[in-house]
Amino acid sequence: MDDRSGTAADTVIRRCTALIPQDGALPLRDCDIVVRGGLIAGIVAPGDGEAATVIEGKNRLAAPGLVNAHTHSPLNVLRGTADGMDHVGFMWTNQADTAGSGEEEIAIGATLGALDMLRSGITAAIDHYPEQNCTAEAVGPLARAYAGIGMRAAIALRAFDMEYDDIDPARIEGVDLSVADDLGDNPLEPLGVDEIVAVCEAAADAWHGHGGLVSIMPGPSNPIRCSDEMLVRCHEIAAARDLGIHTHLLETRIQRTLAQERYGRTMVAQLDALGILDRRWSMAHTVWVDEDDIGLLADRKSVVVHNPHSNAKIGAGVAPVARMLAAGVPVALGTDGASTNDTLSIHEAMSLALLLPRVSGVPRSDWPGAPAAFDMATRGGAAAFASGPRLGAIEVGAAADLVLYDLDAPGLAPLNDPLQQLVFAERGRGVRAVMVAGETVYEDGRFASVDADAAIRAAREMRKSQKARNRALYRFAEALEAAQEGAAGR
Ligand SMILES: [Zn+2]
Repeated sequence: MDDRSGTAADTVIRRCTALIPQDGALPLRDCDIVVRGGLIAGIVAPGDGEAATVIEGKNRLAAPGLVNAHTHSPLNVLRGTADGMDHVGFMWTNQADTAGSGEEEIAIGATLGALDMLRSGITAAIDHYPEQNCTAEAVGPLARAYAGIGMRAAIALRAFDMEYDDIDPARIEGVDLSVADDLGDNPLEPLGVDEIVAVCEAAADAWHGHGGLVSIMPGPSNPIRCSDEMLVRCHEIAAARDLGIHTHLLETRIQRTLAQERYGRTMVAQLDALGILDRRWSMAHTVWVDEDDIGLLADRKSVVVHNPHSNAKIGAGVAPVARMLAAGVPVALGTDGASTNDTLSIHEAMSLALLLPRVSGVPRSDWPGAPAAFDMATRGGAAAFASGPRLGAIEVGAAADLVLYDLDAPGLAPLNDPLQQLVFAERGRGVRAVMVAGETVYEDGRFASVDADAAIRAAREMRKSQKARNRALYRFAEALEAAQEGAAGR
């Protein structure tokens, strides 16, 4: 395992305009940013920085890299496949598309997403992976792909030891169950807890720290699909190895109902009763929570990963993000997978996180503003990573994960208010260069260590072979979709 932090060339970004934290705000400062060993080593007066490599920062806005704290790389080839579907529909369609993916497909999916994320200023992502139970062999191709491109990634090893009751067609009123007769092998077969623990430990041993960029987390698919024992043992692994732990939580209304039926309390209360609710958790969605849940999440400093685009696209609901922020819950932003968020844009997530409360009845006095959105996308994402180098801010000792925006870009010229413009105006067109762990991985439309055209060609071919596979699953997903539409009288 090589360690990028020991090999990065010393670099200075000279005479840039940077967002430097000061007294809880992010004022602009003209400065040189000195990078050494993958970290920010100094923020000095313009022209004072010395290093072997000089990056001209004139007319550039330097910002901390954005963190996408929830996505699924197998879905990166599935843009344009889920319009009009709800959670049940897209979950089964995803299964048809992704079940049985081989090593090459795993790497292609990750590469496609990393290319898209880097060029819009995302330097780190939590990849909740794969769509089925994770196996030890499936982690290597993914870890190598991220390290090869130079993107920081936490691979959250998706696992479940119970059935997916929340997408069980039998629970959908009016749906004819005969659609399930031709399912073939169900790819959502639970694994035993011991097997899941063994996969987590083997993957952490082999890949945590790979390339100085990859980290490993246990990734229970959703607590409603996991036994108490499994959740406790996954949390033990995270605590013993100082890792994060990542999950989906209360994305849909039925998940809340199932938790009440099973535990007689909310899912958040159940996690707390198990003694495992703490800062290591990052929880995607967290839409269907009550005030007591929000209080618990704030007390325990568990990170909520808000995915506004995905929640809206499948009609899952609007997470009470204004109330969570007001209560002190650490909130990060995610895109979710590319079938429920075809943009993979954290710039867009920042904007939607501010817009949705304003059209869903939150009083104007409680509207979060641009500084809160940028904070979610940077320091909130850093909290979701839970361990490793400090992310999300340009300050001495933090990881040198930086984005240089062109101050002549349409969204930033003239620069009236950098945070408002990064949130509401910029969508990535202004990104000129991206540095991760002190290495420039993207500059002026080109990637340093991956052939983007070849990756796109490979993705096209991959899609053809995907569609020729899993025919029974596709038939099932289509029949289920038609049955749901029939039941809904559409
Ligand atoms: Zn997700």
